Amino acid sequence: MIRNLIGRVFRLTKHHGGGRVVIPLKRHGISRNRLPSFALKTTDQLQAAGFEAYIVGGAVRDLLLGKDPKDFDVATNATPEEVHKLFRRSRIIGRRFKLVHVLFGDEMVEVSTFRGSGDAATDEAGRIIRDNTWGSQEDDAKRRDFTVNALFYDPNREEIIDFHGGVADIEKKRMTMIGVPAVRYREDPVRMLRAVRLAAKLGLSIDPATRKPIRELASLLENVPSSRLFDEMLKLLFSGQSWACLMQLRDEGLHHGFFPLLDKMMAMPHGEAFLRTALENTDRRIREDKPVSAGYVFASLLWLEVLDNWDKRKAAGEKPMLALFAAIDEVEAVQEQKLAIPRRYGSTMKEIWTLQPRFEQRTGIKPFRLLEHPRFRAGYDFLCLRASSGEVDQALADWWTTFQAADNQQREAMLVRAQPGDPAAKKRRRRGPRGGAKPAQDNAQ
Ligand code: ATP
Ligand code: MG
Repeated sequence: MIRNLIGRVFRLTKHHGGGRVVIPLKRHGISRNRLPSFALKTTDQLQAAGFEAYIVGGAVRDLLLGKDPKDFDVATNATPEEVHKLFRRSRIIGRRFKLVHVLFGDEMVEVSTFRGSGDAATDEAGRIIRDNTWGSQEDDAKRRDFTVNALFYDPNREEIIDFHGGVADIEKKRMTMIGVPAVRYREDPVRMLRAVRLAAKLGLSIDPATRKPIRELASLLENVPSSRLFDEMLKLLFSGQSWACLMQLRDEGLHHGFFPLLDKMMAMPHGEAFLRTALENTDRRIREDKPVSAGYVFASLLWLEVLDNWDKRKAAGEKPMLALFAAIDEVEAVQEQKLAIPRRYGSTMKEIWTLQPRFEQRTGIKPFRLLEHPRFRAGYDFLCLRASSGEVDQALADWWTTFQAADNQQREAMLVRAQPGDPAAKKRRRRGPRGGAKPAQDNAQ
């Protein structure tokens, strides 16, 4: 026992990154019972069958930082086929890199086989000649990105295996790239975004040598497939620290690749207040476990530019609704040059925008129709956001808050008196309270 401990301490001090260092429970403090049963079942079953199995990556990092991991990944020396055979409810996924998803009720554990360095599997032309190159635990640690992401936890021994000084980096609250940072960013430019996102999300600093090449290499993001870039952008916006992430991305010059209008909007009169309020609201909702719609977040990220463009068009004499549609098209086109927003989010975003002028109309039947619109709630929340940053009159948002909660008679009394000759007022009188009002279809007129 004592010899074992001395041995561990010796190994600990002997290697500074590169060697296999075993860190005992006494030093890291993560006991087995900190892990959910489905994660333990996975490692236990693999180990009982004679394989090595560890909790790996983000979960170990988050536990050491005292945060709740959002998912649990397992690394093993068993091949995907061997893993699949061991777990009745499991399936092999992926082609280039096979993984196994093991299911326990609603929970899922991703089990990956120790992987060798990707380079070994390519030919001179850079083509992949072997689909899966398995490696040792050490190889697997080396191909991960940051030292804090390359830790292995063995729940039976309650030990952490650390090849690259990740535990020391956690203690220093620092992210350090494994290997030569510029080389690793060239291999995969998304690692630059991960550095910034994880640092902002977890409150870590980025080691100077890891940080330095980012600014120069930022343009490499242009070569990343947009689906992957978009996934990373969603992770960033839904991290619970989206404002901090965005500001840090901007500091590193990484925002040009997917948010080309940010600088312009930040320089506008209400720009910073608006974006900050929007993202901090989102962050709060995420932390409170409330649902957040991506379409809504994108609507807020780009709204100021839409508004600016719209105002200019109206000033030039274009009809309001047509001008709004034209402004939306133009802003979308600029955004698309860098990173297109997929239609499933883009359509919600545009609906929220096109509802905004309808909140200005408080005469006749119009407010009643708006209330029945399927996106009323999102549109109203967006109006409140605009009001809280000072971009529209707070009184307008308050009017809608009261109007929603009121009964029909009170609503009638709240209507803004129409100007003489306003056709809306006449229509309203004829129809009576809510009578015959169809759900709004005329999104815009
Ligand atoms: P999050 O909390 O956002 O899930 P994470 O670090 O767990 O952060 P995942 O995308 O779940 O991120 O990846 C799991 C692990 O896979 C990482 O901890 C890291 O070890 C490795 N990894 C992920 N992406 C990369 C990458 N681009 N390059 C190298 N290793 C990576
Ligand atoms: Mg993860």
